[in-house]
Amino acid sequence: MHMATTPQPSGSPLQKLDDWDAFLEGRYKEGKAQSEFRQYDAQANPGVAEFYRLNHEKQTLDYVLAKEKEYFGLHRGQKNIWEAADYLNTLVDDSDPDTDLTQIEHLLQTSEAVRGDGHPEWMIVTAFVHDLGKVLCLYGEPQWGVVGDTFPVGCAWSDQIVFCEYFKGNPDANVPEYQSEYGIYKPACGLENVHMSFGHDGYIAEVLKSYLPDEALYMLRFHSFYAWHRHSAYAHLMNRKDERMLGWVRKFNPYDLYSKGHTKPDVKQLKPYYEDLFAKFFPDQIAW
Ligand code: FE
Ligand code: FE
Repeated sequence: MHMATTPQPSGSPLQKLDDWDAFLEGRYKEGKAQSEFRQYDAQANPGVAEFYRLNHEKQTLDYVLAKEKEYFGLHRGQKNIWEAADYLNTLVDDSDPDTDLTQIEHLLQTSEAVRGDGHPEWMIVTAFVHDLGKVLCLYGEPQWGVVGDTFPVGCAWSDQIVFCEYFKGNPDANVPEYQSEYGIYKPACGLENVHMSFGHDGYIAEVLKSYLPDEALYMLRFHSFYAWHRHSAYAHLMNRKDERMLGWVRKFNPYDLYSKGHTKPDVKQLKPYYEDLFAKFFPDQIAW
Protein backbone atom coordinates (compact mmCIF):
# COMPACT_ATOMS: atom_id res chain seq x y z
CA MET A 1 0.00 0.00 0.00
CA HIS A 2 1.20 3.47 -0.84
CA MET A 3 1.74 5.69 2.18
CA ALA A 4 1.34 9.38 1.50
CA THR A 5 2.89 10.60 4.71
CA THR A 6 6.58 9.77 4.34
CA PRO A 7 8.62 12.55 5.99
CA GLN A 8 10.65 14.35 3.35
CA PRO A 9 14.27 15.48 3.59
CA SER A 10 14.40 19.24 3.90
CA GLY A 11 14.71 20.85 0.48
CA SER A 12 12.51 18.16 -1.10
CA PRO A 13 9.03 19.14 0.01
CA LEU A 14 7.36 17.36 -2.92
CA GLN A 15 6.91 13.60 -2.61
CA LYS A 16 7.57 13.45 -6.30
CA LEU A 17 8.13 15.95 -9.09
CA ASP A 18 4.73 15.13 -10.58
CA ASP A 19 3.05 16.59 -7.50
CA TRP A 20 3.81 19.99 -8.97
CA ASP A 21 2.17 19.02 -12.28
CA ALA A 22 -0.87 17.73 -10.42
CA PHE A 23 -1.06 21.02 -8.51
CA LEU A 24 -1.02 22.97 -11.79
CA GLU A 25 -3.78 20.82 -13.19
CA GLY A 26 -5.93 21.55 -10.14
CA ARG A 27 -5.08 25.25 -10.23
CA TYR A 28 -6.30 25.63 -13.78
CA LYS A 29 -9.19 23.21 -13.62
CA GLU A 30 -11.69 24.43 -16.15
CA GLY A 31 -14.65 26.31 -14.74
CA LYS A 32 -13.10 26.82 -11.33
CA ALA A 33 -14.12 30.06 -9.62
CA GLN A 34 -11.42 32.56 -8.67
CA SER A 35 -12.51 32.29 -5.02
CA GLU A 36 -11.55 28.61 -4.87
CA PHE A 37 -8.09 29.45 -6.08
CA ARG A 38 -6.26 30.51 -2.93
CA GLN A 39 -7.99 27.88 -0.90
CA TYR A 40 -6.71 25.22 -3.21
CA ASP A 41 -3.23 26.67 -2.85
CA ALA A 42 -2.63 27.14 0.81
CA GLN A 43 -4.33 24.62 3.06
CA ALA A 44 -4.66 21.65 0.79
CA ASN A 45 -1.05 21.71 -0.38
CA PRO A 46 1.47 22.35 2.39
CA GLY A 47 4.17 20.43 0.50
CA VAL A 48 3.58 22.50 -2.62
CA ALA A 49 3.56 25.73 -0.60
CA GLU A 50 6.90 24.83 1.00
CA PHE A 51 8.25 23.95 -2.43
CA TYR A 52 7.29 27.42 -3.74
CA ARG A 53 8.76 29.12 -0.69
CA LEU A 54 12.13 27.55 -1.46
CA ASN A 55 11.82 28.26 -5.17
CA HIS A 56 10.86 31.92 -4.69
CA GLU A 57 13.50 32.60 -2.04
CA LYS A 58 16.40 30.93 -3.82
CA GLN A 59 15.93 31.85 -7.48
CA THR A 60 17.96 35.07 -7.44
CA LEU A 61 19.53 36.70 -10.50
CA ASP A 62 22.96 35.53 -9.32
CA TYR A 63 21.74 31.96 -8.89
CA VAL A 64 20.22 31.95 -12.39
CA LEU A 65 23.35 33.38 -14.01
CA ALA A 66 25.49 30.74 -12.29
CA LYS A 67 23.20 27.89 -13.40
CA GLU A 68 23.07 29.20 -16.97
CA LYS A 69 26.85 29.21 -16.99
CA GLU A 70 26.97 25.70 -15.58
CA TYR A 71 24.45 24.12 -17.96
CA PHE A 72 23.93 26.18 -21.11
CA GLY A 73 27.36 25.27 -22.48
CA LEU A 74 26.01 21.68 -22.77
CA HIS A 75 28.93 19.80 -21.25
CA ARG A 76 26.92 16.90 -19.83
CA GLY A 77 27.67 14.38 -22.57
CA GLN A 78 25.93 13.12 -25.70
CA LYS A 79 22.62 11.31 -25.81
CA ASN A 80 19.90 10.83 -28.38
CA ILE A 81 16.29 11.66 -27.50
CA TRP A 82 15.24 8.14 -26.60
CA GLU A 83 18.34 7.62 -24.46
CA ALA A 84 17.55 10.83 -22.62
CA ALA A 85 13.98 9.64 -22.05
CA ASP A 86 15.24 6.28 -20.75
CA TYR A 87 17.65 8.16 -18.49
CA LEU A 88 14.85 10.38 -17.18
CA ASN A 89 12.84 7.24 -16.50
CA THR A 90 15.43 6.18 -13.93
CA LEU A 91 14.19 9.07 -11.78
CA VAL A 92 12.41 7.22 -9.01
CA ASP A 93 10.69 9.27 -6.40
CA ASP A 94 8.03 8.29 -3.96
CA SER A 95 5.48 7.30 -6.57
CA ASP A 96 2.85 4.60 -6.64
CA PRO A 97 3.71 2.11 -9.41
CA ASP A 98 0.06 1.04 -9.76
CA THR A 99 -1.40 4.43 -10.57
CA ASP A 100 1.43 6.80 -11.47
CA LEU A 101 2.80 7.16 -14.96
CA THR A 102 6.50 6.77 -15.59
CA GLN A 103 8.23 9.80 -17.08
CA ILE A 104 8.23 8.23 -20.57
CA GLU A 105 4.53 7.45 -20.24
CA HIS A 106 3.80 11.11 -19.40
CA LEU A 107 5.79 12.26 -22.43
CA LEU A 108 4.01 9.80 -24.72
CA GLN A 109 0.61 10.71 -23.34
CA THR A 110 1.27 14.37 -24.12
CA SER A 111 2.69 13.73 -27.59
CA GLU A 112 0.00 11.19 -28.50
CA ALA A 113 -2.69 13.72 -27.57
CA VAL A 114 -1.04 16.28 -29.86
CA ARG A 115 -0.74 13.68 -32.63
CA GLY A 116 -4.36 12.61 -32.17
CA ASP A 117 -5.50 16.19 -32.82
CA GLY A 118 -3.69 16.25 -36.17
CA HIS A 119 -1.00 18.79 -35.29
CA PRO A 120 2.23 18.96 -37.34
CA GLU A 121 5.14 16.63 -36.67
CA TRP A 122 7.30 19.34 -35.09
CA MET A 123 4.64 19.84 -32.42
CA ILE A 124 4.38 16.08 -31.73
CA VAL A 125 8.16 15.98 -31.24
CA THR A 126 8.02 19.06 -29.03
CA ALA A 127 5.37 17.47 -26.84
CA PHE A 128 7.52 14.38 -26.40
CA VAL A 129 10.65 16.30 -25.42
CA HIS A 130 9.00 19.05 -23.35
CA ASP A 131 9.92 17.62 -19.93
CA LEU A 132 13.26 15.97 -20.75
CA GLY A 133 14.94 18.88 -18.96
CA LYS A 134 13.88 17.20 -15.73
CA VAL A 135 17.09 15.18 -16.06
CA LEU A 136 18.47 18.15 -14.06
CA CYS A 137 17.21 16.22 -11.02
CA LEU A 138 19.52 13.35 -11.92
CA TYR A 139 22.40 15.84 -12.08
CA GLY A 140 21.65 16.63 -8.45
CA GLU A 141 19.65 19.84 -8.83
CA PRO A 142 17.01 20.39 -6.11
CA GLN A 143 13.28 20.17 -6.87
CA TRP A 144 12.89 23.95 -6.57
CA GLY A 145 15.59 24.39 -9.26
CA VAL A 146 13.99 21.98 -11.74
CA VAL A 147 10.21 22.38 -11.68
CA GLY A 148 7.73 25.07 -10.63
CA ASP A 149 6.29 28.11 -12.41
CA THR A 150 9.05 30.14 -14.01
CA PHE A 151 9.39 33.95 -13.93
CA PRO A 152 11.86 36.65 -15.00
CA VAL A 153 14.64 37.49 -12.55
CA GLY A 154 16.40 40.87 -12.37
CA CYS A 155 13.17 42.88 -12.47
CA ALA A 156 10.06 43.26 -10.29
CA TRP A 157 8.08 40.06 -9.70
CA SER A 158 4.52 40.10 -10.99
CA ASP A 159 1.74 39.62 -8.45
CA GLN A 160 0.36 37.12 -10.97
CA ILE A 161 3.04 34.61 -9.97
CA VAL A 162 1.61 31.91 -7.74
CA PHE A 163 2.61 32.28 -4.05
CA CYS A 164 4.24 35.64 -4.87
CA GLU A 165 4.19 36.51 -1.14
CA TYR A 166 7.22 34.25 -0.73
CA PHE A 167 9.40 36.59 -2.79
CA LYS A 168 9.82 38.79 0.29
CA GLY A 169 12.41 36.24 1.45
CA ASN A 170 14.43 36.48 -1.79
CA PRO A 171 17.67 38.52 -1.37
CA ASP A 172 16.90 40.34 -4.66
CA ALA A 173 14.03 42.02 -2.82
CA ASN A 174 16.73 44.22 -1.24
CA VAL A 175 18.32 45.29 -4.54
CA PRO A 176 16.45 48.39 -5.74
CA GLU A 177 17.69 47.99 -9.32
CA TYR A 178 16.02 44.58 -9.54
CA GLN A 179 12.79 45.85 -8.06
CA SER A 180 11.81 48.36 -10.74
CA GLU A 181 9.34 47.40 -13.44
CA TYR A 182 12.06 46.89 -16.06
CA GLY A 183 14.91 46.06 -13.71
CA ILE A 184 18.04 45.23 -15.72
CA TYR A 185 16.05 45.06 -18.99
CA LYS A 186 14.91 47.53 -21.65
CA PRO A 187 11.28 48.06 -22.66
CA ALA A 188 10.12 45.45 -25.22
CA CYS A 189 13.51 43.72 -25.08
CA GLY A 190 11.93 40.36 -25.88
CA LEU A 191 11.44 37.44 -23.53
CA GLU A 192 14.26 35.46 -25.12
CA ASN A 193 16.59 38.14 -23.77
CA VAL A 194 15.24 37.87 -20.25
CA HIS A 195 16.83 35.61 -17.65
CA MET A 196 14.12 33.25 -16.46
CA SER A 197 14.21 31.41 -13.13
CA PHE A 198 16.26 28.27 -13.74
CA GLY A 199 14.54 24.97 -14.45
CA HIS A 200 13.71 22.18 -16.86
CA ASP A 201 12.10 24.51 -19.41
CA GLY A 202 15.04 26.74 -20.20
CA TYR A 203 17.46 23.83 -20.14
CA ILE A 204 15.63 21.69 -22.72
CA ALA A 205 15.17 24.74 -24.98
CA GLU A 206 18.95 25.30 -24.88
CA VAL A 207 19.68 21.64 -25.64
CA LEU A 208 17.38 21.59 -28.68
CA LYS A 209 17.61 25.16 -29.99
CA SER A 210 19.56 24.19 -33.13
CA TYR A 211 17.00 21.61 -34.21
CA LEU A 212 13.47 22.94 -33.76
CA PRO A 213 11.47 25.90 -35.13
CA ASP A 214 10.90 29.03 -33.02
CA GLU A 215 7.33 28.03 -32.19
CA ALA A 216 8.61 24.79 -30.68
CA LEU A 217 11.37 26.52 -28.76
CA TYR A 218 8.86 28.96 -27.26
CA MET A 219 6.67 26.04 -26.18
CA LEU A 220 9.70 24.47 -24.49
CA ARG A 221 11.26 27.58 -22.96
CA PHE A 222 8.08 29.12 -21.59
CA HIS A 223 5.75 26.22 -20.89
CA SER A 224 5.86 26.86 -17.10
CA PHE A 225 5.71 30.67 -17.41
CA TYR A 226 2.06 30.80 -16.33
CA ALA A 227 2.22 34.45 -15.25
CA TRP A 228 2.81 35.24 -18.93
CA HIS A 229 0.91 32.71 -21.03
CA ARG A 230 -2.04 32.36 -18.64
CA HIS A 231 -2.21 35.68 -16.79
CA SER A 232 -0.78 38.06 -19.45
CA ALA A 233 1.82 39.60 -17.12
CA TYR A 234 5.16 41.02 -18.36
CA ALA A 235 3.66 42.56 -21.53
CA HIS A 236 6.13 45.46 -21.07
CA LEU A 237 9.05 43.13 -21.84
CA MET A 238 7.46 41.55 -24.93
CA ASN A 239 8.59 42.23 -28.47
CA ARG A 240 6.79 41.47 -31.74
CA LYS A 241 8.15 37.95 -31.87
CA ASP A 242 6.81 37.19 -28.38
CA GLU A 243 3.41 38.46 -29.51
CA ARG A 244 3.46 36.08 -32.48
CA MET A 245 4.62 33.14 -30.39
CA LEU A 246 2.26 33.53 -27.42
CA GLY A 247 -0.58 31.80 -29.27
CA TRP A 248 1.60 28.73 -29.86
CA VAL A 249 2.60 28.52 -26.21
CA ARG A 250 -1.08 28.73 -25.30
CA LYS A 251 -1.96 26.06 -27.86
CA PHE A 252 0.49 23.66 -26.27
CA ASN A 253 -0.49 24.23 -22.63
CA PRO A 254 -3.70 22.14 -22.47
CA TYR A 255 -1.80 19.11 -23.72
CA ASP A 256 0.67 19.51 -20.89
CA LEU A 257 -2.03 20.14 -18.29
CA TYR A 258 -4.83 17.82 -19.22
CA SER A 259 -3.44 14.89 -21.17
CA LYS A 260 -2.75 12.83 -18.07
CA GLY A 261 -5.28 10.07 -18.55
CA HIS A 262 -5.35 6.76 -16.79
CA THR A 263 -4.56 4.52 -19.73
CA LYS A 264 -0.86 3.88 -19.98
CA PRO A 265 0.52 4.33 -23.48
CA ASP A 266 2.08 1.22 -25.00
CA VAL A 267 5.71 2.30 -25.02
CA LYS A 268 7.00 -0.70 -26.97
CA GLN A 269 4.41 -0.36 -29.69
CA LEU A 270 4.91 3.41 -30.08
CA LYS A 271 8.70 3.44 -29.98
CA PRO A 272 9.35 2.70 -33.72
CA TYR A 273 7.09 5.59 -34.78
CA TYR A 274 8.90 7.98 -32.46
CA GLU A 275 12.35 6.82 -33.47
CA ASP A 276 11.49 7.57 -37.12
CA LEU A 277 10.08 10.94 -36.08
CA PHE A 278 13.17 11.90 -34.06
CA ALA A 279 15.37 11.00 -37.04
CA LYS A 280 13.58 13.71 -39.05
CA PHE A 281 14.53 16.45 -36.60
CA PHE A 282 17.63 15.46 -34.67
CA PRO A 283 21.09 14.10 -35.38
CA ASP A 284 22.00 10.75 -33.86
CA GLN A 285 23.67 12.34 -30.85
CA ILE A 286 22.82 15.58 -29.10
CA ALA A 287 24.92 17.50 -26.56
CA TRP A 288 23.23 17.82 -23.15
FE1 FE B 1 7.23 20.75 -17.75
FE1 FE C 1 4.80 18.22 -18.60
